[in-house]
Amino acid sequence: MRSHDATLGLYVSVPFCRQKCTFCNFASDAFPPARMAAYVDRLVAEIEASREFAAQHRLEVPPRVDSVFLGGGTPSLLEPEQMARVFAALHRAYPMEQDAEITVEAAPGQISDALLEILLRSGVNRISLGVQSFVDAESRAVGRTHTGDACLAELERLRAAGIRNLNVDLIAGLPHQTAASWSHSLQTAIGSDVEHVSVYMLEVDEDSRLGRELIGPGVRYGAHAAPTDSLVADLYAHACETLGAAGLAQYEISNFARGGCASRHNLKYWKRDAYFGFGLDAHSMLRAQADSRASRFANGDALDPYIAGSEVVEVEHIDMLGEWEESIFLGLRLVEGVSIAELQQSFPAAWVDALVERVQNLQRDGLMRLEDGRAMLTQRGRIVSSSIFGELLADEPAVA
Ligand code: SF4
Repeated sequence: MRSHDATLGLYVSVPFCRQKCTFCNFASDAFPPARMAAYVDRLVAEIEASREFAAQHRLEVPPRVDSVFLGGGTPSLLEPEQMARVFAALHRAYPMEQDAEITVEAAPGQISDALLEILLRSGVNRISLGVQSFVDAESRAVGRTHTGDACLAELERLRAAGIRNLNVDLIAGLPHQTAASWSHSLQTAIGSDVEHVSVYMLEVDEDSRLGRELIGPGVRYGAHAAPTDSLVADLYAHACETLGAAGLAQYEISNFARGGCASRHNLKYWKRDAYFGFGLDAHSMLRAQADSRASRFANGDALDPYIAGSEVVEVEHIDMLGEWEESIFLGLRLVEGVSIAELQQSFPAAWVDALVERVQNLQRDGLMRLEDGRAMLTQRGRIVSSSIFGELLADEPAVA
């Protein structure tokens, strides 16, 4: 088993939004303010009880907390005193490293001065803005209320307030998007000098209104004006090239950063380091005290049972085959890929040999590379990563 750094990331889910974006398939919604108050009470209680939960299930909690991420939803919708309570609970239960990366997701134009002050006092040093597009017609079409100019003004304001690490999220595949409008969004992000950009390809599934319309008939949410799959793939390839040329190097399928600004917290997900999640639909991965195997658990995604604290959270201990599959499909999301030597230390030689053979086949098709003892996706491979993961993990390897 690869030795995992003894650091812990904390994740807090805040599933509230001012309005529901048409493309969104998260467990978030525009809940009434009274639900937010009850939610914060429950969240604080969960954080306070979390060490006991880990002890009961014989899970290791690494002592050094070096990343915190408040995501959602729109955490910036919390009232300042609610935000202060959440951070106070986190700091009490989990003393943090001096240089911990502390990120809060926010919607442009929705961070009041009072909230910003609480964020700074709580140690927040990274803000991730849900921009999605700098083109106003595209934002409007998916139900977002900010303009491109408002996003730029927000970035400047946050920078002036002392936030030195800023991310913007962009989505390729929105209704009305064209190669030219996408280029405008990318160039605006680059021109804003942010340290980090996340680029997601629109997810098409039954869990969002736009996704359902793209699958079935309808014109209400702009599915008829959405770019084709092949244009979305071109937009993604263009983003990789343009951001890379501007000094925002790609380090993961969807993530690009200037030197030293890769998201420490998100890297834990792909490197399978420990993280503890709190709140609605929050997922956690800790290691078992007995054998260091990964153990995963998650809260449910229905608000009322979460607030009532009535759900029983089951802990799943991952077996060797599960560890193998996770190591491949999470590790290959990273541009640096996976180390063959590390796989050899943790898994049967026959499994690794079979994997290397498959990678060599994919290398012939230009979808993967074997380089300096690591296996990685090529740029073309990243566009079709899901089918490559499927192919690499198609059959259960023979147990040694
Ligand atoms: S995309 Fe973000 S802001 Fe929009 S509904 Fe989903 S979580 Fe809320």
